[in-house]
Amino acid sequence: MTIAPQNISFGQQFGLLRSHAKSLAPWPLGCTVLVILLWLWVGATLHREKKEVRQRAVLSASTQAHTYSEQVDRNIGQLDYILQSLQFQWREDSGRLNLEKQFNPDLVPKVAKISITIFDRLGMPVTSTNPAINGKKSVASAEHFQAHIPPSSNGLLISEPLRSTLTGREVMILSRRLTASDGSFGGVIMVAIEPAFIASFVDESKLGDGDFVAIRRADGAFLATKTNHGLRSHSPNYIGTNDSASPSGVKFASADQYLDGKPRIVAWRVSGNYPIKAIVGLSEEALMAEYEPRTRELHLVGLIGTLFLMFLGVAGMRSSAIQAWRAQHAREIHEAYRLATENAREGFYMLRPLFGRNDEIVDFLIEDCNERGAMYRGLPREALIGKTMSATIPVISQTYMMAACKKAMQTGFFEDEIRVPERGSRPAQWLQKRIVRSSAGLALTLRDITEIKSHQDALMRMANADSVTTLPNRHWLMQHLPAAVDNARSMHKQLAVLFVDLDDFKNINDTLGHAIGDELLKAAALRLKAVIRPEDKVARLGGDEFTIIVEAAQTREEVVAVADRVIETLRTPFVLGDLERQHFIHASIGISLFPQDGPDGDTLLKCADIAMYVAKNSGKGTYRFFEPSQERRLVMRLNREAELKQAIARGELILHYQPRVQGDTGEITSMEALVRWVHPTLGLIPPNQFIPMAERTGLIVPLGAEVVRMVCEQLALWKTQDLQVVPVSVNVSAQQVDTDTISAMLATALKASCLDPRLLEVEVTESATLTKDGAAVTELAAIQKTGIKLYVDDFGTGYSCLAQLKRLDMDGLKIDRAFTAQMLNSPADAALFEAIVSMAHALEMRVVAEGVETDEQLAALQVLGCEEVQGYYISMPVPAAEAGLLLRKRFLFPAA
Ligand code: C2E
Ligand code: CA
Ligand code: CA
Repeated sequence: MTIAPQNISFGQQFGLLRSHAKSLAPWPLGCTVLVILLWLWVGATLHREKKEVRQRAVLSASTQAHTYSEQVDRNIGQLDYILQSLQFQWREDSGRLNLEKQFNPDLVPKVAKISITIFDRLGMPVTSTNPAINGKKSVASAEHFQAHIPPSSNGLLISEPLRSTLTGREVMILSRRLTASDGSFGGVIMVAIEPAFIASFVDESKLGDGDFVAIRRADGAFLATKTNHGLRSHSPNYIGTNDSASPSGVKFASADQYLDGKPRIVAWRVSGNYPIKAIVGLSEEALMAEYEPRTRELHLVGLIGTLFLMFLGVAGMRSSAIQAWRAQHAREIHEAYRLATENAREGFYMLRPLFGRNDEIVDFLIEDCNERGAMYRGLPREALIGKTMSATIPVISQTYMMAACKKAMQTGFFEDEIRVPERGSRPAQWLQKRIVRSSAGLALTLRDITEIKSHQDALMRMANADSVTTLPNRHWLMQHLPAAVDNARSMHKQLAVLFVDLDDFKNINDTLGHAIGDELLKAAALRLKAVIRPEDKVARLGGDEFTIIVEAAQTREEVVAVADRVIETLRTPFVLGDLERQHFIHASIGISLFPQDGPDGDTLLKCADIAMYVAKNSGKGTYRFFEPSQERRLVMRLNREAELKQAIARGELILHYQPRVQGDTGEITSMEALVRWVHPTLGLIPPNQFIPMAERTGLIVPLGAEVVRMVCEQLALWKTQDLQVVPVSVNVSAQQVDTDTISAMLATALKASCLDPRLLEVEVTESATLTKDGAAVTELAAIQKTGIKLYVDDFGTGYSCLAQLKRLDMDGLKIDRAFTAQMLNSPADAALFEAIVSMAHALEMRVVAEGVETDEQLAALQVLGCEEVQGYYISMPVPAAEAGLLLRKRFLFPAA
């Protein structure tokens, strides 16, 4: 899944920042530190560079001061040299020096307007290079004159700038004592110079605003000052006076030391030969003003840096937040996946394709898997996550897995089942593998389908095997037989299909229950398996039908031998459940042969089936080979079945009624409804010819219902005819009882004709009471509950069970006509009959003797106290109309 953080809202972004504050903090912190460092650097650089500027200024000031002091020294020195040489000449010439004539102006620097004057002892000018001075007034009172009078004065004096009393111009006076040869004071020689002279070497255009160069006398008096505005001879108002006493130096002079309030760097130096000090003052403000662009530049750098770092911080935070969000998102997805898959029954892998040089997939990376997934691989999860598929899968599976994964990458989906071979104690497993392509790669799920597989195998076996006998079943036969036929055809061999049907099995199953029935089938299957040849096959088709395929039968005799052995082995009685009793079973076998009877398995089986019916009909425990004529008969039988089905609907069934009378009086007590089929072409068909067929085909159920309906209709009709009706008994077969709906059916029919339930009686054989453990009992009880009486039909022919009779609480017992027929044959038969009667009485059941055909029989029965009798002697079953007459007659014994 790709995440697009730009799609998330501002609110989400804020939440994001907050939740990841910890991981984002380094960005603003780091950037703040960098900003501080940047400004510290800016500050330090400014400081350093300013310091350098000042140092340079200091150096420059000192150098200038030094240079200027030397210049001053040189300039003054030049003038002093002139003074001294004139002083010397004056003495040589004994005071008669004419400056106007003698003075060589070339000695004097051109720059300065100077005038040299010699004053006598009284201060009067004697001679001068400036003619204007001669004869003017005395300078005796002037300080620079007075100072030379004492004999101790032998040096050069430099005056402060002053207005010359002689010329009226502002000048500075350099003076020396003129000493006569006797050592007395002879006067003073003076040089008047303009103050500019002393500072002539300073180029004021080079001075900055507020800078100055001052020349001072050692005692502090100002001689000249130069600023960029020009020369001043007087002390400028902004120059402090508290210079240090040391001959040279430099210092920072604070703002308060100057009238203009500007701090300065001041350097000074006293000249070597004269008490003259050169002072250079550099204005800090000017210095700094000069430095201002650089300061601005650095500030700009700081500002840009700060903005950049701030931007970096924000961008970093944002990108970290997005990264953190992505990581969290991915974690959440992972977590969700894991939660969803951890407890899942499925193993789960997330795979990411790894691409080679040509953009083709070379391997897959296991990004994640759950415990179960790891378990299927037989490795801990940690050993799988982060590894490549090729590193974790056994070499033999690699080609296959790569192909599967690549296929899933191409098509989006791959699915199959794999069998994981045994490993250690672990049995082989079946895994279902599904690979689905997702945006990032592949999601692989593994599901254990071992159990499903084993079920499938079991089902497969079951599908081909009969659950009761474990013999192959019909399904198997249908697959095997065509193959066997094909084989026989290609080998030019004969093949025989034996259709084996157990006679009387149904009877055992019905009377002794399914458990015993199954036991019999198992025993029979074992015997069948024992008598066939190893190359022959036996299968159970269902019910009591088995099929034996005799492959590669050379002769008809060989097949007969197999059939004989089968009949023989099944003839031996079976001992089942109750070990006391032996059960006799016979087998009827139909045989068909390939190739003569049919070209395929289906036909052969059908032919064998037909032959089996023929065998069964021609006496049990025998075999028949198929003949085409048998098929015709079968077709007839099948047609008959179809006809019977229609007969019910078409109303071709009619009822005859056979009365039952009081044993002693002959009064009619009941009538038995006996069905007949009036066939359109064959005429009246007795029940023995179609009831078994109806039972076999299931038609007995609708047929039985039709009989009950007709009975009720008849009773209702008789009632309208003012006949004194007696109960009518209907025969109900075991299959009907089995449906569980018989009681409801009877009640419905009675209700439809508004009849008293006591007008209906039900006859069931003992075997019918034994079907389906317990179920028949419940159903019969339900019938009794409606008021219908129950009779046991054909008593003595089936498997009588006294306990069952007791439990059923039947109303009466109809003793089969075989007993009636035999009762007079021997005393033993009579005793048997008597025993049945007394047993029935003991169970409080009425006794009906069936098949009473003679007067003697009736008499014997009367002696035995048999309540009711039925039989040809009393009346044949008669059509309804005649039955009505019998009802009217009431007493049916023939007149004695
Ligand atoms: P069943 O229930 O034992 O019926 C009595 C049979 O004995 C009747 O044969 C009757 O004609 C015959 N019979 C009666 N008295 C004598 C006699 O004195 N001597 C001789 N030899 N036979 C006698 P039918 O009518 O042919 O019925 C045959 C069987 O068909 C019945 O035996 C019964 O089991 C079955 N059946 C008839 N109608 C129905 C029916 O509606 N439903 C069912 N499920 N079975 C029926
Ligand atoms: Ca009957
Ligand atoms: Ca009967």
